[in-house]
Amino acid sequence: MVSRKPLVAGNWKMNLDVEGARTLAREVLDRVSRFRGVEVAVCPPFVLIPEVVRVMEGSAVGVGGQDVSTEVKGAFTGEISGDQLVSVGCRYAIVGHSERRQYHFESDELISAKVKRALAVGLTPIFCVGERKDERVAGRTFERVERQVTVGLAGLDAAAMASVVVAYEPVWAIGTGDVATPAQAQEVHEFIRGLLVRMFGQETAAATRILYGGSVTAENAGELMGQSDVDGALVGGASLKSASFGAIVEAAGV
Ligand code: PEP
Repeated sequence: MVSRKPLVAGNWKMNLDVEGARTLAREVLDRVSRFRGVEVAVCPPFVLIPEVVRVMEGSAVGVGGQDVSTEVKGAFTGEISGDQLVSVGCRYAIVGHSERRQYHFESDELISAKVKRALAVGLTPIFCVGERKDERVAGRTFERVERQVTVGLAGLDAAAMASVVVAYEPVWAIGTGDVATPAQAQEVHEFIRGLLVRMFGQETAAATRILYGGSVTAENAGELMGQSDVDGALVGGASLKSASFGAIVEAAGV
């Protein structure tokens, strides 16, 4: 039986200034460093990454970008490359977050290119999938998630997949307080793992971490992460307070 080290990643989105980021990073470090059995990462806005990396230096807490460009370098105004993220100390990149899909019209194909770019520079992509409310109501959750997973991870082999983390984030649960029930999360996580078995084989699928994201709090984290196919959490709102983020990390293990 494969044991998967839980990962709890905080997505700070477009919040905080340099002072606030430094303070939060210090507090997070203080609260989470004793939990050796959990991998912890924070994903600040791009401009705040160097400051947060400085705070986390020498610790086990990783830092990630909230996105990565499909391009290597050059005339792509406003974009940030994978190499640039690595050069400032990032180890992760969130890819395909629903806010990128929704507000920046990112397609499954574009997201697939971002996953590949992240892997090419040695970043761990945290690859997000999840259905909208109307899709769930229409009974199309599995169909939607299947397309996102099969297109988003197309062209990867098992060796590359070993460096990918998947995050199931139902769009209706993100930032709404309308968290998925543990059973709803487990059902989709199990489905995703089944897709990974088909695409990459049993061994790789069993080793892949699938995080749940969407209104995770200190109160609900334990039960969600207690499900057999839920291997950690991608946390938005509750990652902006060290007490709640620390409690979620604690709920993930020791
Ligand atoms: C997210 O944006 O990835 C997220 C899960 O947000 P929240 O925890 O605020 O729902």
